[in-house]
Amino acid sequence: MSYVRTASVVLSLVALAVHLDAQGRGGRGGGRGAPETPTEQQWSSNGETRERVAAAMTIAGSDLLPQAKMFCTPTGPQRMAVARQAAGLPPMPNVVVEPTRVFDNMWWIGMTSQNVWAITTSDGIILLDTMNSAEEARDVIVAGMKKAGLDPARIRYIVIGHGHPGQSDHTGGALHLQKTYGARVVMNPIDAKLVLPSQRPDRPLAVPDLDAFHGQKLTLGDTTLTLVHTPGHTPGTMGVIVPVKLRGASHTAIVLAATQLPTRESLLQFERVFNEFAKPMKVEASLNMHANGVQEDLPFLETIRKNPGGPNPYLYGPERFARWMDIMIECGRARLAALGIPTS
Ligand SMILES: [Zn+2]
Repeated sequence: MSYVRTASVVLSLVALAVHLDAQGRGGRGGGRGAPETPTEQQWSSNGETRERVAAAMTIAGSDLLPQAKMFCTPTGPQRMAVARQAAGLPPMPNVVVEPTRVFDNMWWIGMTSQNVWAITTSDGIILLDTMNSAEEARDVIVAGMKKAGLDPARIRYIVIGHGHPGQSDHTGGALHLQKTYGARVVMNPIDAKLVLPSQRPDRPLAVPDLDAFHGQKLTLGDTTLTLVHTPGHTPGTMGVIVPVKLRGASHTAIVLAATQLPTRESLLQFERVFNEFAKPMKVEASLNMHANGVQEDLPFLETIRKNPGGPNPYLYGPERFARWMDIMIECGRARLAALGIPTS
């Protein structure tokens, strides 16, 4: 089981999604325990908010304007299920999607509502997240891996992006994969301490084998992931920076388990992660665990499946992606300002 090089500091995994919870309620805040978002009135009447929004639009220029408009709203981006619920629309059918090789060494596997990532290395596979349950682990993750030609017996690590008390999305499939394949589960201890005591009897959760910490390196064979702490959605939410290859060329992606939420701690920590990790590492793509949260993932995946040799819609290039991150932060400041919270 190759070497985990435990650097020091904190952290662990995941998907950039806007992800509120499976039962996200829509409307203000969206998910259980989520911080309050500003009202339309607070948003439109605050001078600093208007300045921040204008700054975000300037950063966006012409090529990131739709993204800036999505981020700069009172709630920020909302994943598909939550946005539809808030708009009074019926839920989308939740169906299994064809496994998609987004990069040479990274597969998207999952359903329209939620997904995992399988990272292939010279010494086995690292899985990011585990969906809701043992059944989904078996029928969606393992079945999808086999369809993709990946051997589930080669899963060495499972990095969990975050966990919610009393709820098993993201964490529910981990115990099955841990027991069946001997995979080692990596999770931030803050979330583990919240989640394990409240687990549902019908969905037992895995006890993590390793703590995930901010700045931690997780190495398997020829691949080293960098785990970063991105709190807000949950106190222990972790992002993962992944070296990827596309047709042999090297790139870097970040998997965010959730977007920045309107607390000062969340804002400042996301800003640190972007400035101290993502920008120096030339990250140029954001990946997540809930499709269509901050970008059109399902159409992106279809584009890749239809034309695997064509341009990859996830890759922004480092300069454009740095502006994407700056826009997320500036719109986060706009939300804090509307709530009367200091923004720096
Ligand atoms: Zn969540």
